Amino acid sequence: MKIRFLGAHNCETERTRLISLLIDDMLVIDAGAITSSLSLEAQQKIKAILLTHQHYDHIRDMPTLGMNLLLHGASVAVYSLPVVHDIVTTHLLDDEIYPNFHQRPRRKPTLRFNIIEPLKNELIEGYNVLPVPVSHSVPTVGYQLTSPDGKIVFYTGDTGPGLADCWRHISPQLLIIEVTASDKYREGAAEARHLTPSLLKEELVSFREIKGYLPRVVAVHMSPALEKEIATEIAAVEKELDCSITMGYEGMEVSL
Ligand SMILES: [Zn+2]
Ligand SMILES: [Zn+2]
Repeated sequence: MKIRFLGAHNCETERTRLISLLIDDMLVIDAGAITSSLSLEAQQKIKAILLTHQHYDHIRDMPTLGMNLLLHGASVAVYSLPVVHDIVTTHLLDDEIYPNFHQRPRRKPTLRFNIIEPLKNELIEGYNVLPVPVSHSVPTVGYQLTSPDGKIVFYTGDTGPGLADCWRHISPQLLIIEVTASDKYREGAAEARHLTPSLLKEELVSFREIKGYLPRVVAVHMSPALEKEIATEIAAVEKELDCSITMGYEGMEVSL
């Protein structure tokens, strides 16, 4: 399994893009940086897009991807919770600000939505996909992907503290988890349902208690302005827990 970090942040700048992960060139989780990162050819190779939740930084490229695919007669399957489908189709693809690619062309719509249920396995392009609820300000699922050759990754999407229930459902070799802010914003971040390095540490301790091991960890969704502080604090967590935690960045590739 090859994971390419198209976007690894929560804010877009000249050097950072919104969160988006490309798995084996054909599955994408979260749509923050698809059209800004991939060639037209690579965009047409995408078979399925999994959305974690409705926030703009995670759904942003649905209209731009829809247009590119429509113009090339291509289409893609999209998987999400019902509420994410409703919001994307009524707010972004509403035929007011952009065409409703989920209904056009009529015979085979460009964006083919599929509703997922939390904790119900789906077989998507040969990958076993398990959506697992996490603790964010709106309904959100993380996704565990198991490749045909048995490699397992879990990406949390946006989440605050309290992942013990989530950990019980997953057994990843690689954990991609959000760390939005540095520890001076710990209280505010927890309230907004995000993580900081010390909150990450607590969640990893809980993971190890429940699962008996710690996977390799990659942090994503960092605020660009806080990245240096977050990196210093994460290095301390890595040392304390004696595990591997890397900061994700645009263009980073991880192979399992
Ligand atoms: Zn969010
Ligand atoms: Zn976000």
